[in-house]
Amino acid sequence: MFTKQTVRDIDLKGKRVLMRVDYNVPIEDGKVVSDFRIVESLPTIKYLIEQDCKIVLISHLGRPDGRPSAKYSLRPAAERLSEVLGREIAFVEDCVGASSTEAVSSLQNGQILMLENVRFHAEEEANDEVFAKKLAAHGDVFVQDAFGVVHHGAVSVSELPKYLPGVAGLLLEKEVDTITSVMEKPERPLMAIIGGSKIADKIKVLDRFIEMADFIAIGGAMANTFLLAMGIETGKSLAEPDDVPLAKEIMEKARAKAAKQQFVFYLPQDGVVATDMQNPSSTRIVEWDAHVIADIEAYPKQPNKEASQVAKNELILDIGPFSGSFISGGVQLAKTVVWNGTMGVTETDGKNNDPVGPFAHGTELVVEALMGHFGNKPFTVVGGGDTVSFVEERGLTKAFNHVSTGGGASLELMEGRKLPGVEALLDKEE
Ligand code: ADP
Ligand code: MG
Repeated sequence: MFTKQTVRDIDLKGKRVLMRVDYNVPIEDGKVVSDFRIVESLPTIKYLIEQDCKIVLISHLGRPDGRPSAKYSLRPAAERLSEVLGREIAFVEDCVGASSTEAVSSLQNGQILMLENVRFHAEEEANDEVFAKKLAAHGDVFVQDAFGVVHHGAVSVSELPKYLPGVAGLLLEKEVDTITSVMEKPERPLMAIIGGSKIADKIKVLDRFIEMADFIAIGGAMANTFLLAMGIETGKSLAEPDDVPLAKEIMEKARAKAAKQQFVFYLPQDGVVATDMQNPSSTRIVEWDAHVIADIEAYPKQPNKEASQVAKNELILDIGPFSGSFISGGVQLAKTVVWNGTMGVTETDGKNNDPVGPFAHGTELVVEALMGHFGNKPFTVVGGGDTVSFVEERGLTKAFNHVSTGGGASLELMEGRKLPGVEALLDKEE
């Protein structure tokens, strides 16, 4: 249950609303190349229009280091918003100062103004009080809808609600509600599929899933650290040797849990390897006997020795076909799946216009399974910046129950941590 007030809980009729959105979207040649986050902000914006509000949007984009930079201008985002909303969006080149104050004061009811990147001012990330007051002067009410940033403190995250009544937008509410309820009372079996490369960022969430989930599958570069922990040669693969003790600890916990109850902790038992991520002319599949399967015995314990070594100059760049199939099989048993992190290096382009890259097959297979192509379609929550980009590029954001607009924020929420940008908002009244 979302315990904070939302736009529906307070009277917004005709008010000036300062709304924090997350339009930190990829832009190429002055055009937004993926508008998922913009589209996801529409329900709140439309609600505010219905309430006859004067709407002032603020956001950050990229890391402009506290000064103006054309590369990080939000103008293309404002243009795309205008297209998807079918309304004019006014734009001002500074989020504070005379030009913004003037633009805000000339807003009519139902009109929308987007202010330039808040990170053009170093004060944003320094929680500067004067800057906060200047921004706060643009609204009567503050609406937080930028789920992607609520885990960090910044003026437009944790400070503005000190100066204005702060409530959640509908996207923020949906994100927090969906992710929390999946973590707190999932329909079981609950499966977690964890991949990607940010091992340090994901180790805590793995810990939580060891407690919560019935089935955990590891893929991506994440898996490599576990392989190292088992003394398996990973060649030049991306891995975090420093985290080997942590990986061992996690495996120990998994074993202990599996000894007591139905629980599966699965590590890839084969991988796609190559000597070069960019030029995958000679990929091969290596099988090793690395899986930790607690309650399933029917797997080959004697891999082909010839094929079972990653060479010193090779990298593991995707999970192999057996692992992909095994994980997809797990999906057939699950009622709820949380997926965060790709199974391999999905960015490498396919040869001869192959739409699937050479190291994206594992991730493709998981996506197909989650979409229900093999029979069962579990309730699926997808998170992680790169994971979501992969899903978006395929136009599949609607194929899952919830695709999160926040990477780090969704992880922290899953860990059970409090999010400063949510905490700062008004509590729901009894
Ligand atoms: P997300 O953004 O979805 O949370 P991460 O940022 O943790 O995911 O990781 C995504 C990145 O992991 C992608 O850029 C992908 O190329 C990389 N990756 C996945 N598997 C491997 C691997 N085996 N070796 C190197 N990089 C990998
Ligand atoms: Mg990422």
